[in-house]
Amino acid sequence: MLDILNPVFTDEDKAREHLERLTWPNGPTCPHCGECENVKRLEGKSHRKGLIQCNSCLGNFTVTVGTVFERSKVPLNKWLLAVFLMSSSKKGMSAHQIHRMLGVTYKTAWFMMHRIREAMKDGGGPLGGPGKIVEADETFVGGRNGNRAYRKPAPKKKVLALVERNGRARSFHVANIHANTVRSALVTSIDRASTLMTDEASHYKAVGREFERHGHMLHAGREYARGEIYSNSAENFFSILKRGVIGTYHHWSEAHIHRYLVEFDFRYSHKDVTDAERSDELLKGIVGKRLTYRRTAALAA
Ligand SMILES: [Zn+2]
Repeated sequence: MLDILNPVFTDEDKAREHLERLTWPNGPTCPHCGECENVKRLEGKSHRKGLIQCNSCLGNFTVTVGTVFERSKVPLNKWLLAVFLMSSSKKGMSAHQIHRMLGVTYKTAWFMMHRIREAMKDGGGPLGGPGKIVEADETFVGGRNGNRAYRKPAPKKKVLALVERNGRARSFHVANIHANTVRSALVTSIDRASTLMTDEASHYKAVGREFERHGHMLHAGREYARGEIYSNSAENFFSILKRGVIGTYHHWSEAHIHRYLVEFDFRYSHKDVTDAERSDELLKGIVGKRLTYRRTAALAA
């Protein structure tokens, strides 16, 4: 639930303190040289708030240096609100909605959201492991613009999802569902000691032998699931993804679809915690993930 009165969403100083607690659990750490002992807060009117001096490398820094929030003109409390909204909205949020709720321009909202998606990237190594089951399945999303006059329906996008049962999800936009494409996604993202669970499509046959076990699951509705041979996790992931595409995003451009997928992966991977915990988890992910694409334009945010 959104606690709209929480000062971290209304007060820039409170927002900064919250971010400092999350990213520096052991106190301020210099992003330039790693010093954490010999640092000093620069108080007083002549200094930017939150400015800290490193006496080791003599550099200055704040909590946003080296993060996706760096050099943004948007106050930190608005960033924290955007982070909360994006991490708690099951189907995602449109940039228009963020623009209206935060009182920033649409363009700024759009860039903020892409920076936040950058922080959502899963840096946590391969899915699965010994005794764990990872489901792989594919679907098509988007492309339902057929009723718009004079406009050709956008092509549907192929999405391959890997979902660890009771765990994380990682999804990919793939150009095709050929054995080679599928294999490269699977072997780079799933621990080979896992049990791979797929349907009986031929593109999973060869790669299935590279894993500890390869089970064939039945899709819901076709037959009752037998024991662990079912694909509920991947189907659940896809159903949320599809509702997001239909209800919120309508159209995903080829250039950005992977960023939207990261967003859905993140929420799915942290679905069993509270909204506030999920939001804090995201904030811990802002470090070292500065968005580098279209740098000059991104700085406008
Ligand atoms: Zn330093």
